[in-house]
Amino acid sequence: MDHQHYDAIVVGGRCAGAATAMLLARGGLRVLVVEAARPGTDTLSTHALMRGGVLQLHRWGLLDAVVAARTPAILATEFAYGDEIETVDIRPGGGISALRAPRRTVLDPLLLEAARAAGAEVRIPARVTRLLTDGSRVRGVEGIERGTGMRFRATAALTIGADGRNSTVAQAVDAPFRRRGTASGAVVYGYFPGLPRDRYRWAYRPEVAAGVVPTGDGLACVWAGTASARFAQQRSASLDATYLSLLTEAAPELARSIGAAPRVGPLRAFPGQPGWIRGCTGPGWALVGDAGYFKDPITAHGITDALRDAELLARAVLEAPRGGQAQLDALADYERMRDRLSGPLFDITERITSYQWDLGELRERLLELSQAMRPEVDALLALDRAPAA
Ligand SMILES: Cc1cc2nc3c(=O)[nH]c(=O)nc-3n(C[C@H](O)[C@H](O)[C@H](O)COP(=O)(O)OP(=O)(O)OC[C@H]3O[C@@H](n4cnc5c(N)ncnc54)[C@H](O)[C@@H]3O)c2cc1C
Repeated sequence: MDHQHYDAIVVGGRCAGAATAMLLARGGLRVLVVEAARPGTDTLSTHALMRGGVLQLHRWGLLDAVVAARTPAILATEFAYGDEIETVDIRPGGGISALRAPRRTVLDPLLLEAARAAGAEVRIPARVTRLLTDGSRVRGVEGIERGTGMRFRATAALTIGADGRNSTVAQAVDAPFRRRGTASGAVVYGYFPGLPRDRYRWAYRPEVAAGVVPTGDGLACVWAGTASARFAQQRSASLDATYLSLLTEAAPELARSIGAAPRVGPLRAFPGQPGWIRGCTGPGWALVGDAGYFKDPITAHGITDALRDAELLARAVLEAPRGGQAQLDALADYERMRDRLSGPLFDITERITSYQWDLGELRERLLELSQAMRPEVDALLALDRAPAA
């Protein structure tokens, strides 16, 4: 069996994993990334980035490539509370004058290529099947390449689980749940041409929500959502009928306007899953992205958080790359910072996902959400003022 040693192994090569690997490799570490999906494939996710996410791509020198992929500039966010519409312009700041919402088929390969360009070794498509441990700490992984069926073993000072909601790494180390949400929302989405390209649109009416996320290829992602329990009851044999019914209820004009142009590609549905925050560090292991912290997509913040935490984790590892107590201490700082920045957003997301609000309360929660994003952006901007890792 093939066996190599690295400074860090990253399990999962989408936004959290590829970004972490890129930063570790840029920092001079020997890094392996193992990703189970085929290169360039889509995943179940809409892709609205918030300011922190766009800022990270800018800081890492990758925003130009997103723009070159003809991902339109989002200059405003429109909130529809019933029939009442409020538009908030995107303020220029921190080198960012517009938001962007690249498809995952653009963003994830871009990050993975940047990791490879920085020197990371990438095994794709290949699946990690188990962790190697010596009873006191994680030592590495065993896996299998799809296609060739070749089995491999890799050891490292640190194994990072960036393997999403059903993380093999989090399960293997039994990462403790620090918070468990109870609210769960369902969302159905598809892609349509011919919609305005310069703004996110979020629409809310009692028990339902909808949104428009303009992206590349002249398309916009149009989603409609409700509480998971209601979705389970309402879902008829036809996903199209359920989607149109939710969209018509949340944003009747939007439902009419997508009727004018044929949808591009299939509808995709997420039935929902309550969120969590798990302990994300231990002897020889760490978690980043959804593997350690998942919240309902209604606040469209998972990718932004993944890009933030990739950097917080990479900086901690680069402080103490050889492992031991110094690494555990640096990782503990990463976990504290992640939790400090994530807690308020987690709570607000829980409340919005419950769909048990009236439009007045919802407006207040969305204002809180906007305020809760500021410390995150400030923390990212402060990284450039701190000594480089
Ligand atoms: C319906 C929906 C809509 C969303 N909309 C938004 C949005 O608009 N904006 C936003 O910011 N966030 C959104 N999110 C959240 C966002 O998708 C996640 O937060 C984000 O994908 C987390 O990235 P990640 O890299 O941690 O995990 P993932 O993107 O899930 O990637 C994990 C990767 O790990 C790989 N993997 C898993 N197990 C193994 C293994 N054993 N070996 C090797 N590889 C493995 C998988 O193949 C996968 O590619 C949405 C989520 C959902 C479900």
